[in-house]
Amino acid sequence: MTDTTKTPLYIRMHSNDNVAIVVNDGGLAAGTVFPDGLTLVDAVPQGHKVALADLAEGDPVLRYNVTIGFAARALSRGSWVSEATLRMPGARELDGLPIATRKAPVMEPLEGYTFEGYRNADGSVGTRNILAITTTVQCVSGVVEHAVKRIKDELLKKYPNVDDVVGLEHTYGCGVAIEAPGAEIPIRTLHNISRNPNFGGQAMVVSLGCEKLQPARLFPKGSIPIASGGDPSTVCLQDEAHVGFNSMIDSIMRTAEVHLAKLDARRRETCPASELVVGVQCGGSDAFSGVTANPAVGFATDLLVRAGATVMFSEVTEVRDGIDQLTARAANAEVADAMIREMAWYDAYLKRGGVDRSANTTPGNKKGGLSNIVEKAMGSIVKSGTAAITGVLSPGEKLKQKGLIYAATPASDFICGTLQLAAGMNLHVFTTGRGTPYGLAEVPVIKVATRNDLARRWHDLMDVNAGRIASGEASIEDVGWELFQLLLAVASGRKTWAEHWKLHNALTLFNPAPVT
Ligand code: CA
Repeated sequence: MTDTTKTPLYIRMHSNDNVAIVVNDGGLAAGTVFPDGLTLVDAVPQGHKVALADLAEGDPVLRYNVTIGFAARALSRGSWVSEATLRMPGARELDGLPIATRKAPVMEPLEGYTFEGYRNADGSVGTRNILAITTTVQCVSGVVEHAVKRIKDELLKKYPNVDDVVGLEHTYGCGVAIEAPGAEIPIRTLHNISRNPNFGGQAMVVSLGCEKLQPARLFPKGSIPIASGGDPSTVCLQDEAHVGFNSMIDSIMRTAEVHLAKLDARRRETCPASELVVGVQCGGSDAFSGVTANPAVGFATDLLVRAGATVMFSEVTEVRDGIDQLTARAANAEVADAMIREMAWYDAYLKRGGVDRSANTTPGNKKGGLSNIVEKAMGSIVKSGTAAITGVLSPGEKLKQKGLIYAATPASDFICGTLQLAAGMNLHVFTTGRGTPYGLAEVPVIKVATRNDLARRWHDLMDVNAGRIASGEASIEDVGWELFQLLLAVASGRKTWAEHWKLHNALTLFNPAPVT
């Protein structure tokens, strides 16, 4: 048990910072004296900021050695620096950024780490063995849901090596401006998700018949490599051969059984850690996200990159305020330019909706101590570790290379997860401070808690407790290694809490184009 409830503690992220965050559960009362003599002028809630020096109105407030805002009024040392007393800076311009200026850190290769995965004909490796049924349009969802239930009840027991059957349901496919700029994003997302490594190359489609997103458009001839099964098998509900509801269900079950038999023949084999494709994101963040969980994930990211694996970080609005750090870390000018292009596209997308990146922060973020998007972004970016950024993906694109990749996505947990699935993720790491029971049916989701209190209350939902970093029971390196080892175990079949409880959030396609 920690004594963090007794000794007043704060955490300063950088020696130049003039604010720090209060660690203690329940926050601290006015008049509290820290071991170094700092005395609180105001009561400060847990995770919120305390001024370490007297601040005049307009003075920059520094956290992570970055200006996260300006004092809205004079604040004496020991004051609570809250959303109300912090003015947010404007977004960094996208020209004049440092381009690939940082010398890449020397990273010793990490060898000898393996996991038990499912090798696919296209060279990818799955961590689960799942039959996915792609749908072209929401109209078929009810039928597919019914069929999936019957496949699970009646067929799955005959194929014990298959983990699950999942209907890839979504709200796209019809009633949409399918030729509009931006429509390529949901279409390629759905196409690429169907080719996720966890589905073993067994593409199967259920279509309605009259929808805009025709199967041939979703899977143009030859778009599925022959090695992965060639063209997908398709069941069309409006097919004249279907007489009555049960004939549709029979068609789906008959087709599914062909694929189940092929999937059932798959066996796990020893694969190097370099075959891991890990998507990292955060949700329900608090001020500890950027102190405990995200730095531990960043440490694990470096381990994965050293092992030759692929790590994707995403969430445009949560990196936008740190774009200068990221362009400096780009492996070359091409990567930096691609990153700037994605930021510019997203700036324009938000502007069209009459908002900017500051629309990101939630009431829960602010209650947890994150005053604005700049502060949130600085804590979010640390998930990417320290390696050079070697590639950039537009929303819905599939990975073409290994290493540390910036996959541009909205920060929305469901849309980010869906787009990382399309990129080819076979493991998902999710950090949370406020707490969310997030899970996906398609890949295992490992959840990392930022605080001891959350880890204690949600003991059967959180897979890793990074809160021990704040209470001094573990280092960032300890938790980073623990996460790395857990990733290998989960990739080999160990279940996460979200899998244990079968917690599955909906696939949510990103459609920036109009609907009709
Ligand atoms: Ca998120």
